Amino acid sequence: MQHTLRRPFRVAGVGLRGGRPAEVEVRPASRDTGRIFVLDGVTIPATIDNVVDTRLATTLGRGVARISLVEHLCAALYAAGVDNAEIHVEGDELPVLDGSARLWGAAIAAAGLAPQAAPRRALVVSAPIEVGTADAWARFEPADHFALDLTIAFDHPVIRTQRFVGVGTGPAFFTELAWARTFGFYRDAEALRALGIARGASLDNTVVYDDEGVMNPGGLRAPDEAVRHKALDAVGDIALLGVPVHGRFTGFRAGHALHLALLRELAAR
Ligand SMILES: [Zn+2]
Repeated sequence: MQHTLRRPFRVAGVGLRGGRPAEVEVRPASRDTGRIFVLDGVTIPATIDNVVDTRLATTLGRGVARISLVEHLCAALYAAGVDNAEIHVEGDELPVLDGSARLWGAAIAAAGLAPQAAPRRALVVSAPIEVGTADAWARFEPADHFALDLTIAFDHPVIRTQRFVGVGTGPAFFTELAWARTFGFYRDAEALRALGIARGASLDNTVVYDDEGVMNPGGLRAPDEAVRHKALDAVGDIALLGVPVHGRFTGFRAGHALHLALLRELAAR
């Protein structure tokens, strides 16, 4: 059956892109609504058709309305099994919080889930599908349940090559992925600021790597936190299909843009 939240919840913080206050209220929604964002009276369903930007974060848009950094909340709602929710946003992006989905997960768990009198539909991957090149690619293939296999490779002494293979949804998402934080490189900070897309980034919400190591005083939450965050991001993007997916997702040095290309191809078929 489909599920929604038992009660609404509010979360406030700052935006990663603009650094301005950002507040959101996530409310229960009736069956077959899906996960929809509401901004100044404009409704933007959290679906692949409404993705307008994938630089740094996934941005949804409709007309002039824009909502950025939707992937961490979308991942948490998808993994928790919240099919229907109205996400009312004040500002043009979601709060970055600690850079992970940990607080979103805690808020959803505190609100609780309510079953609804409508069957849940799922997308069943029936044949392999792949996009990308030999250097960076993303693939879905048939499987009984949702599963993830992510590999990242960075020329950095603390990251290098990392791989995560796991369930990717349900309780496993919250124990294995939800707490992994956004990361970036200090050498890119200036360029990102010039683009105006990381004004709110700080060591409170981003793991920052300099040439030798990690700049955050507390260090990493796990040696492979980087690939776990990429897996969290992938779940958030896959959530934009709007229904649970039965299939195995493999990403090799993939990011939001490749994820979206794969999801669009999958939806088209
Ligand atoms: Zn992320």
